[in-house]
Amino acid sequence: MGKSSIHRKYDGVCFAVTGAAGFLGSNLCNYLLEQGAWVLALDNFLTGQHRNIQDIKSRYPHQFFFADENIIEGIQQWDFFIAKNKLPHPKFLFHLASPASPVDFERLWRETSLANTLGLLKCFDWAEKFDTRVVFASTSEVYGNPAAHPQMEDHLGEVNFHGPRGCYDEAKRLGEALVYQMVNKGAIHGVVRIFNTYGPGMRLTDGRVISSFFQQVYQNNRIVVHGDGHQTRSFCYSRDMVRALLAYAYSGEQSPINLGSVEEVSVLQLAELIAQRFGNWSTTIEFAQRRKDDPQRRRPDLSRARDLLDWTPTTTLIEGLDLTAKYFYDGLKTETARVLHAQPN
Ligand code: NAD
Repeated sequence: MGKSSIHRKYDGVCFAVTGAAGFLGSNLCNYLLEQGAWVLALDNFLTGQHRNIQDIKSRYPHQFFFADENIIEGIQQWDFFIAKNKLPHPKFLFHLASPASPVDFERLWRETSLANTLGLLKCFDWAEKFDTRVVFASTSEVYGNPAAHPQMEDHLGEVNFHGPRGCYDEAKRLGEALVYQMVNKGAIHGVVRIFNTYGPGMRLTDGRVISSFFQQVYQNNRIVVHGDGHQTRSFCYSRDMVRALLAYAYSGEQSPINLGSVEEVSVLQLAELIAQRFGNWSTTIEFAQRRKDDPQRRRPDLSRARDLLDWTPTTTLIEGLDLTAKYFYDGLKTETARVLHAQPN
């Protein structure tokens, strides 16, 4: 099957990933492929990037099998890939396919609602054939604007379901309820609650706070903070998150576990950090209207992740931003050149 004989951590293991062209999906695929795994991947490019997939395909032509499919319609090509390439049955299916940026929730409300519910049911159906464990990517958004801080897994959340984020938050909550029902019936599936994560592979203009700040500092030399900037977030670097997803999958845990960083910063502090480190003396910070239902405080309690998965993130925010900056700088430069080139003289 065209693989080298060097021993790597996941040599000979097959994984399945929906949302593979997205930020987390492509990082997960890359990590697994580097470690010798086979990866069955799926994405319909709703919010993902072709270049994430092209890059992986060219580097791992014999380990990576990609289906351009909508998860809502079920998984069609993976069985064929398994049979044709004599792959072992996949041990884990990571269901990551879903829009994930607040700016997309309103625009793609129908797709967001279905990817996390009907799409998840399609994953269960497919996984049943091979005894594959489904790991559902839930979110800190299930806590809404939380009354408890930091958030522990037993906090039931303060979600405004009649608001702009409602479709995302409630779809994830229903997804968790579906996992619960499957587990109750004997399935081996599980749920992770992912807090803000960032790194190379993000869509340059996806509207999430770190992407927006990089875009603004590099293209406009000014950063726009929504609200007074005192709202807090904690940002986890992608490589740490990938390690956490795998630790959870292998742990066999079935109840939800928070995954993220405990390094809490205010949005204003983040803006100042990015302005100082990646802007110049003339970079400005401006303020705009606060977004509706933007949570005031966000930080996971990671006790369960530490105890049950033996995992904590190791990349500091400054290290992670340094590792991410070049990706945004190069990507935005290429994008600007492409737009200028396309303009008539
Ligand atoms: P992303 O938008 O970069 O990736 C999602 C991928 O799913 C995209 O490639 C998109 O094209 C694909 N997709 C969406 N709907 C699909 C469908 N119906 N069929 C096939 N493919 C579809 O987002 P991400 O940041 O990589 O997030 C991945 C998962 O992690 C999502 O489920 C998200 O809710 C969850 N999550 C992410 C974060 C974060 O900070 N990145 C935080 C919490 C939860």
